[in-house]
Parts: sequence; C-alpha cells; structure tokens
Amino acid sequence: MIVAQQKPLEEIRRLIAPYEKILILGCGTCVTVCGAGGEREVSFLHGALRVAQVKGGDGVHAFLEYTVKRQCDREFLDPLGDRVSEVDAILSLGCGVGVQVVAERFPDVPALPGVNTSFMGATEQGGVWDERCAACGDCRLAETAGICPITRCTKGILNGPCAGTKNGKCEANKDIDCAWVLIYKRLESLGQLDKIRRYYPPRNFRTIPRPRRLAGITSIDLGGSNG
Ligand code: SF4
Ligand code: SF4
Repeated sequence: MIVAQQKPLEEIRRLIAPYEKILILGCGTCVTVCGAGGEREVSFLHGALRVAQVKGGDGVHAFLEYTVKRQCDREFLDPLGDRVSEVDAILSLGCGVGVQVVAERFPDVPALPGVNTSFMGATEQGGVWDERCAACGDCRLAETAGICPITRCTKGILNGPCAGTKNGKCEANKDIDCAWVLIYKRLESLGQLDKIRRYYPPRNFRTIPRPRRLAGITSIDLGGSNG
C-alpha cells in the first residue's frame, strides 16, 4: 500500500493561510491504514487547526470535513460537488495521486496536499511500514527470489552483493540486512542459485516513459487452440 505521513501542522497552517473556507478531505484507503489521512485524522487535524487558530491568531478559517472511500478514483469524488462549491480550497489528506485527481476533478478550487507521500510498503508491525516497491516498471522479483533489489538494497544494484557486505549486513547501514545476502539465501533454499550467477545489464531508469498509463487486463491470450 501507499505509505504517507501527515505534514507538520505549521506547514499545513502556511498552506491554508490564504483561504477562508477549507474542506479537509480524507481518503478511506491506504492513508487510513497508515494513520495519515483517514476519517480519524481528518477529525484530529480539524481540531488541531481550530485550536491553532484560537491560540495563534491565524486568520479566521471555517472548516468542513469529509472522507471519501478513495481519492484516486474520480467516481468516489462525485458526492463532493456541493461541498466543494462552498469552499475556497481543499486540503487533501490523500496521497499525491489523490491530490492530483481531486485537482483535476475540481479545477476551480485549489487542492493542497496535507500529507507527504513516502513509499509503497508492507506493514512490519503496528505503525511501522517498510518500503518494498518503487514501481520501477520492470519487475525483477522472479530473478531475485521475491526480494526487491531496488528498494531493499541501499545502492539498488541489480548484480549483488557489492563488496561492502559484512556478516549479512549492509555496509551503508549495519542495522539492516544486506538485501543481496537475503536474495542469495532464498535462491539457495529454492534451488535457484543459477539466477544469481547470471549477469543482469544495468537499467536506464531515464528510459521509463513518463507519464505512464496502464490499461487493465481484460482478457488473457492463452495461445494455441482448443481441440
Ligand atoms: S523490481 Fe522492485 S521496484 Fe521494480 S516493480 Fe518489482 S518490486 Fe517494484
Ligand atoms: S551491502 Fe548489500 S544491501 Fe548494502 S549496498 Fe551492498 S549489496 Fe546493497
């Protein structure tokens, strides 16, 4: 899932300063799970902004709050129409994708980001997420035993380990396991060590075309013919 963190209150206050009526818009999916921008966080932020307004002499703001199921899907934004017509700005607690879809759907109202989108990660323990995927567009997990070298190796190298690995730890950070030692061990246990002996040519990430668009798969060609 996408992992994000709410921006510091001071930064949010600066962002909303020019506007009078603000809709604080939560998202009910990833940012709810990581505790950055769901219904609960919308309510907490609303309260914190009101207190800051009273204490800090901020300009007078009026706030509305609402949380949609997903900000990154336009259809979930439809019920917002009337609310948006009442406000001067939308403070989105969705990820960067959500903010952009909100901005496109409501072009006449500024959409402001209330969270910093950090990475795509897996839950390690309550409140802790580890980055697992950088959406590189050419997944290599089949060759690396399901362990991503791009996000989990500090150098993101495709032919590891580098010369710095020691006792299974990364030379750049001795608190983390060397991703390539993990890859080696898992390939070994799967009987696939031949994969680590292959050379994988460097990738040119600049060649990934931007912007990227992906059509969902609607049918699968299994090849051949029946009968
Ligand atoms: S190789 Fe890593 S960064 Fe690329 S798509 Fe696969 S998991 Fe994501
Ligand atoms: S020690 Fe391992 S994880 Fe660290 S940079 Fe080298 S190969 Fe990557």
